[in-house]
Amino acid sequence: MKITFYGSRGSIATPLLLNEYHKKTKAILNLYKDSQIKDIDDFFATLPLELSQIFGGNTACITIEDDGEDILILDAGSGLRELGRKYTSVNNKTFHILLSHFHWDHICGIPFFKPLYNPTNTIIFYSPNIDLIENLKRQQHPSHFPLSFDKLPAKKKFVILNEQNPYSLNGYKIFHIELNHPGGSTGYIISKDDKKVSYATDTEFTPENIDEKSLFFKACFESSDVLIMDTQYSLTEFFSKFDWGHTSSTMAVNLALEWRVKRLVLFHSDPEHTDEDMIKILRDAEEQIKQFNKRQLKIILAVEGHCIEI
Ligand SMILES: [Zn+2]
Ligand SMILES: [Zn+2]
Repeated sequence: MKITFYGSRGSIATPLLLNEYHKKTKAILNLYKDSQIKDIDDFFATLPLELSQIFGGNTACITIEDDGEDILILDAGSGLRELGRKYTSVNNKTFHILLSHFHWDHICGIPFFKPLYNPTNTIIFYSPNIDLIENLKRQQHPSHFPLSFDKLPAKKKFVILNEQNPYSLNGYKIFHIELNHPGGSTGYIISKDDKKVSYATDTEFTPENIDEKSLFFKACFESSDVLIMDTQYSLTEFFSKFDWGHTSSTMAVNLALEWRVKRLVLFHSDPEHTDEDMIKILRDAEEQIKQFNKRQLKIILAVEGHCIEI
């Protein structure tokens, strides 16, 4: 399975600001000036994470692919536009879009997804929410967007994930669960052969609410090869944003350790966070694991364009 990130920011798309760009390029040029390595590509390979990457302009969108099968897409935030650009000249393709919920940051890429403008393509939307179609139409009401959802030329299908759980799709088993978020959110546990990818974004795990369902969540997420999880806040921020529907990175690491996850992806970063803030959250999470030192849990900060192969 190949997992690719097209959008990892939470709440609203957050492009790199000019002052942040200048700060990064100045730091890179200063390092280059003093470096013995003058080949640009070789030099770039030596850069630390904070200078070699930018973290999260686009909002939630991730693909899961396996051996050229149809593409599974987790959420349709602004990153979906970038994904669609890869398929502008591809015909007869089927895309499966699993939606966590209908907050803007998870659906705003739909009107800009180029494959929806090609009548030979099929786009299948999945959600347990019975208002799935209405919620998508509402986003493209004439007062919000010039073209209605109905008029998008691709073939559109809708699957309400209620009865079948797990749902079988091209060899994938897709199990969905309810998460704790204002207005509701859906988590997905996707497995194929012996691989398991879990997606739990827009969810507030607290010691209190996890307590009631701790065995259920453990059974769901246990031994995930990859857990992509809402870590919008640092622990300090979480205390002032209690009940806002998002999880702290500290809590996510604790849960990932308890659930014996192999790789935890820090996802749905706060739009107020600079790249430096996110690196700090990553380093703090790595420190937290060192304290346990019982097993290897790899922490990954979601970066657009980054692929994880399992
Ligand atoms: Zn969100
Ligand atoms: Zn949300």
